[in-house]
Amino acid sequence: MSRADATRKGHTVTQNEEGIEAGQITIPPRYSRQVLFAGIGREGQARIMASRVVQVGCGALGTIQASLLVRAGVGTLRIIDRDFIEESNLQRQILFDEGDVQNLLPKAVAAERKLRAVNSLVHVEGLVEDVNGSTVHRLLDGFDLILDATDNFDARFLINDYAVKTGTPWVYGACVGSYGLTFPVLPGETACLRCVFEKAPPAGVSPSCDTAGVIGPIVGVIASMQVTEALKILAGRRDRIGRSILTFDLWENRGDAIALPPRDPECACCGQHRYEYLDGSLGATATTLCGRNSVQICRREGLQIDLEELAHQLAPLAPLEKNKFLLRAVIDNYQLTVFADGRAIITGTSDPALARSLYARYVGA
Ligand SMILES: [Zn+2]
Repeated sequence: MSRADATRKGHTVTQNEEGIEAGQITIPPRYSRQVLFAGIGREGQARIMASRVVQVGCGALGTIQASLLVRAGVGTLRIIDRDFIEESNLQRQILFDEGDVQNLLPKAVAAERKLRAVNSLVHVEGLVEDVNGSTVHRLLDGFDLILDATDNFDARFLINDYAVKTGTPWVYGACVGSYGLTFPVLPGETACLRCVFEKAPPAGVSPSCDTAGVIGPIVGVIASMQVTEALKILAGRRDRIGRSILTFDLWENRGDAIALPPRDPECACCGQHRYEYLDGSLGATATTLCGRNSVQICRREGLQIDLEELAHQLAPLAPLEKNKFLLRAVIDNYQLTVFADGRAIITGTSDPALARSLYARYVGA
């Protein structure tokens, strides 16, 4: 710390022992650096402190988002994640440690514990739940902003349907390898996810972090961009919100800003108000197969899978069996049998949410 910083810090603390008044809200001195930042100021900080944010997912993007948001002093942060912590998460999921792996802690529980110790002024709530068509209203109702920390398109299209229908802003973010992209969605004002991507990419053709890997720094960049847009929205600075799709490939030293397309009047979601992921006419269904310790996943779109391409992606991860009708792989003690019509049977679990997650990670969508 420089002498100037030290002096300024001493001055700020003395002056603000009782906090800074912004309207009727007292701003605690811990936020002094954010209040000094002209883009936020006292007014913006007061708004941030009164805000309620919900974050869907608490993996790589989520641990960074949650840490930044709690330190920035949002009023309430709800963190929803259905998964538990594994050793291979520690390379990039910065809130977790080896003790969490040993204790088999769910991500939402570990995140809540750690972040409460970071900032006791924030109401942090970790929920071990799966966000799907039947839980989305119960879990997301009543929040000012949704942050995307999911790892699959079905979940993002569901968030998009919910956000557009309820008029809740949300911030999309995704990473794989050393590449990532992000943009904010302001319902009724900017393009929604389905204006940008009409449909999920076909299963079996797009790499995921579980098939192609990911490096920590790209997650840090994308999560930080998402939280920056979140702070603008929460602080009431809509004039500063980006209207571009930001993309980065850190390994290739590339970054780009592509203008968001205008809202599409033909868009099923924000143009025609058909919420197909919310009402269950699109996306995956998961059905537990009685007595077989298996779950069947079906794609409602009835898409075709290129089994050759999928075999190519899974070959480095697991031993495969394949014929022209199906492909079978055993990964992490689960057997995945994938058919050319996009259907899959996941054996080794009777939990539909876990089966959907495995499908999203290794097959796609
Ligand atoms: Zn749209």
